[in-house]
Amino acid sequence: MSLTGTYDPANIFARILVGEVPSVKVWEDTDVLAFMDAFPQAEGHVLVISRTSKARNLLEVEPEVLARLTAAVQRTARAVTKALDPDGFNLMQLNGEAGGQTVFHLHFHIIPRWTDRPIAGHGQAAMADVDQLRALAARIAAALDPA
Ligand code: 5GP
Repeated sequence: MSLTGTYDPANIFARILVGEVPSVKVWEDTDVLAFMDAFPQAEGHVLVISRTSKARNLLEVEPEVLARLTAAVQRTARAVTKALDPDGFNLMQLNGEAGGQTVFHLHFHIIPRWTDRPIAGHGQAAMADVDQLRALAARIAAALDPA
């Protein structure tokens, strides 16, 4: 899908938001949802999405939604680093098929990095064990700063 087009209300993240598809949530409020990537490139790979916006990518998102999302990404990244103690992390956000985007509901990836651990390539990771994702989500959620 190119950068132009229309939002598909049946995309996988839209289906997660309405509960049609299960997900392992880290935290949520009325504006955002942070949940575990089912095919993590590294342990603790979290996705942050808007609950309300129909933006497919960064170009389409409303500035006020982007502001809330950015704050949510920072809060989540702080919790990920506090809980898992990585040496660094990647913040990734892909736009358009040519940019590597595969789900066309705007999202931010938080991918912890350890100096001695390689990460899986984007789109090349195996599906994670759900119990392991639940355990990681609980550790990250417990490390969240107060809202
Ligand atoms: P993109 O390629 O659009 O930047 O990222 C989409 C992300 O969604 C990928 O990292 C992929 O692993 C993740 N993903 C795809 N399907 C599902 C799913 O059903 N549940 C969850 N939690 N993540 C998914």
